[in-house]
Amino acid sequence: MKWSLTIARAFGIQIRVHFTFFLLLLWIVVEARAAAGWGAAMWGVVFIVATFTCVVLHELGHSVVAQRFGIKVSSITLLPIGGVAALRSIPQKPAHEMAITVAGPLVNVLIFAVLYVVYCWAPDRVPYFPGLVLMPGLPTDWGELTGVLLLVNKWMIVFNLIPAYPMDGGRLLRAVLAQWLPYPRATAIAATIGQVIAGVFILYGLWEPGWIMLAIIGVLIFLAAGAEEKTVRLRDALQHVQVGRVMTPVFVAVGPDDAAGGCAPWIFQRGQDDFPVMADGRLLGMLTQSAVLEAARRNGSVRAAELMMTSFSSTRPDAPVAEVHDSMQASGQRTVPVMEDGRLVGLLTFDNINRYFMTRSAGAAKDGAQT
Ligand SMILES: [Zn+2]
Repeated sequence: MKWSLTIARAFGIQIRVHFTFFLLLLWIVVEARAAAGWGAAMWGVVFIVATFTCVVLHELGHSVVAQRFGIKVSSITLLPIGGVAALRSIPQKPAHEMAITVAGPLVNVLIFAVLYVVYCWAPDRVPYFPGLVLMPGLPTDWGELTGVLLLVNKWMIVFNLIPAYPMDGGRLLRAVLAQWLPYPRATAIAATIGQVIAGVFILYGLWEPGWIMLAIIGVLIFLAAGAEEKTVRLRDALQHVQVGRVMTPVFVAVGPDDAAGGCAPWIFQRGQDDFPVMADGRLLGMLTQSAVLEAARRNGSVRAAELMMTSFSSTRPDAPVAEVHDSMQASGQRTVPVMEDGRLVGLLTFDNINRYFMTRSAGAAKDGAQT
């Protein structure tokens, strides 16, 4: 995720913090200081850091189990609304997905148990909040911090059991459904249920004073459910398709001595973003859209060879699109040259893939109507 800072590493996974998280910290400090001075501000920071440590441990629970099943986890990113673990692939077996999903809330159960022991040991110093109540305010000492963290972990357990995909409960539901249904179908059902529950959250959050956060979470769940469902359908559609079918064989190439800025009109006339730089039929490098725009801005005639990228990945016409799509997402490379016997035969872009997906979805719908 962009705008994130790596603060630690655990089990080979980068723990990253999104910059909006620092805004949350700043906001807590400013609010708590204005209300009750610097001491309160400090406890505010301690509370936020402790809460998000629980979130990181929850995500590490998912990640470590995923690694056990051979799934690479590149990073965990902390956002003000929670954590996101970036799994490099989707678990293939529903049973694996179940184990990975359950591991997260199980970590919160463990944290809850440990803190509960602390509470039993010093019940006069640690407040206990029965049931599910709203946050009683920022803690002012270690005892109150323990009490509030007990509540936080209780909320995290309950919240993640609600079957609203893509939250943990929804993933669990999808894994259960996937025992009998194809994966995309199971995802579609889980996503729809998730969106209905998200709708209830939004309405309740707007209706009930003090619950606005629930409405915000509802909106995020609603959007995430739709996005995840699309990703799963895309993946499924691309599983058995080769690059040669999807790539564009028609493209504009430039010579190393051509002016880089001269490509600018092609960007809007042809809808091509990145340009292969060729000499004698050989691919020398790729001139990206940002390099072309930069050259056009400088107004000079900078040579393509000077601005082209020379390290990039390429693919073959018989490679599976799903695989190339994954590596494009991981590397951020938007255009992949397709090479056959040392010759450039086409370009594969996100746009190609999305358009192929759109066309195919339309075709699939027609086939379905005929049967
Ligand atoms: Zn989780």
